[in-house]
Amino acid sequence: MQIKICPYCNKKFVTSNPKQKYCSVSCRNKYRLQKFKEAHPGKMSEYVKKYYERNPEKKKKVYCNEKRKLQKLQHFIEENNLAREKSLQSKTYKTPYFKEEDEFLLRNWDKLTKKEIALKLNRTIGSVQSRYKKLKKKN
Ligand SMILES: [Zn+2]
Repeated sequence: MQIKICPYCNKKFVTSNPKQKYCSVSCRNKYRLQKFKEAHPGKMSEYVKKYYERNPEKKKKVYCNEKRKLQKLQHFIEENNLAREKSLQSKTYKTPYFKEEDEFLLRNWDKLTKKEIALKLNRTIGSVQSRYKKLKKKN
């Protein structure tokens, strides 16, 4: 787990994904859009419009380039959303605990640190903690 600061809204957030830069998908998309607008400011379109009025024969070509850039950006955003969904799915997937793991957990809870137990069972500290709580309730 890491604490990071979202470059769009400047809020702190916690993530276990080292590649995650933004607190949410919407912040990431907004940040990208902002960057895109900065690179293509409103003033530009005015200049471009005037330029077209003077040089109408060039309009088609430039329009195609802009359109392609937008399509690329859209594609980029969609791909990232898909990747994000995949990583969320893998995170929420829970492997059930085996009987042996439960026994190990109960036997070693006071002997080992939570980190050691989590490492031995190849699980997160949060996972072994909540499992231990469940097991204690049962007994
Ligand atoms: Zn944010």
